[in-house]
Amino acid sequence: MKSKTKMIHAGITGDEKTGAVSVPIYQVSTYAQEAAGKHTGYEYSRTGNPTRHALETTITQLENGKSGFAFGSGMAAITSIMMLMDSGDHIVMTDDVYGGTYRLMTGVLNRFNLDHSFIDTSDPDKVKAAIQPNTKALYIETPTNPLLKITDLKKMAEIAKENDLLLIVDNTFATPYWQQPIDLGADIVLHSATKYIGGHSDVVAGLVVVNSEKLAEDLHYIQNSVGGVLGPQDSWLLMRGIKTLGLRMEAAEKNSQQLVEFLQSHPQVSTIYYPGLADHKGHDIAKDQADGFGAMISFDVGSSEKADEVLSKVKYFTLAESLGAVESLISLPAKMTHASIPRERRLELGITDGLIRISVGIEDGDDLIEDLKQAME
Ligand SMILES: *Cc1c(COP(=O)(O)O)cnc(C)c1O
Repeated sequence: MKSKTKMIHAGITGDEKTGAVSVPIYQVSTYAQEAAGKHTGYEYSRTGNPTRHALETTITQLENGKSGFAFGSGMAAITSIMMLMDSGDHIVMTDDVYGGTYRLMTGVLNRFNLDHSFIDTSDPDKVKAAIQPNTKALYIETPTNPLLKITDLKKMAEIAKENDLLLIVDNTFATPYWQQPIDLGADIVLHSATKYIGGHSDVVAGLVVVNSEKLAEDLHYIQNSVGGVLGPQDSWLLMRGIKTLGLRMEAAEKNSQQLVEFLQSHPQVSTIYYPGLADHKGHDIAKDQADGFGAMISFDVGSSEKADEVLSKVKYFTLAESLGAVESLISLPAKMTHASIPRERRLELGITDGLIRISVGIEDGDDLIEDLKQAME
């Protein structure tokens, strides 16, 4: 099955009983039992819900895994994955992971003695050097936010195998439409489904897919014990979002390529970060491991004042955090998503005061160019 067809036909897509072509929203908490302990497979909706199950089956097939799990947010998904670890374990993580993941590791899970090292995982030698006797997992984000750094997932899978580590990949930016980390050797893939999978800025959700029965059993135990499950209504919204994921990704990427060309020709833009650019670090790896370069672009306009001016003048780009929606979004990492990182560290990482990040939507590309053009004048 080709990718676009898969977005429509993967998983559980309707209702056998009635012929409904959309999965019903089972807005229910408990299920009648025929006799004590004799049930239909559903006992209580934290443990399992048919609408959530349909979504979990769909994402499992999109990521080519064994089992899928839906959570109330991307962070609930990541936290549940971390619960697979034991106190005293150590994880090697991409250094510019999502801010919430950074906060979880340094402000919450550190209190449970779960140790971590933040490493530039785009350099496999640095990853190898960071492995300790108690290291249990590699946690990779690729591409990253906001510099779109690329990590070689096949290399990470080799390192993980050699050292008996779990390879965990946050696939939020690439989506299963462009990138399937399990095929490249990952054990666990996760999404903030709040972003591209939902796609309409109307749901907060997280998804996880694992590649073995053992991990499936362990993660279901955790999902049911910790309880951060996704509700049936939101599960349904994600299934609806997935139907157009292919179309949306294609359209947003096409717009991105147009915008990148415009930005390249603009005298006020110094640096552009986009994996589709031939001179982007990791371009060849991105080309090899993903079917598309995505729709996130960062570019430097030189100063915080200039960036503020652009942000205040745009009409079609909404000034907001988050990404991956049908509408284009614009943000200033130094003052928004990355404001909690000390300026010196930010500059070390390359997150300058004039760095603007855009999440390109599916509006008409010419309008988006026109808008950025007038905002930069
Ligand atoms: C947004 C995001 C998360 C967190 O997801 P929520 O749904 O906001 O909890 C995790 N990873 C990445 C890459 C994200 O962009």
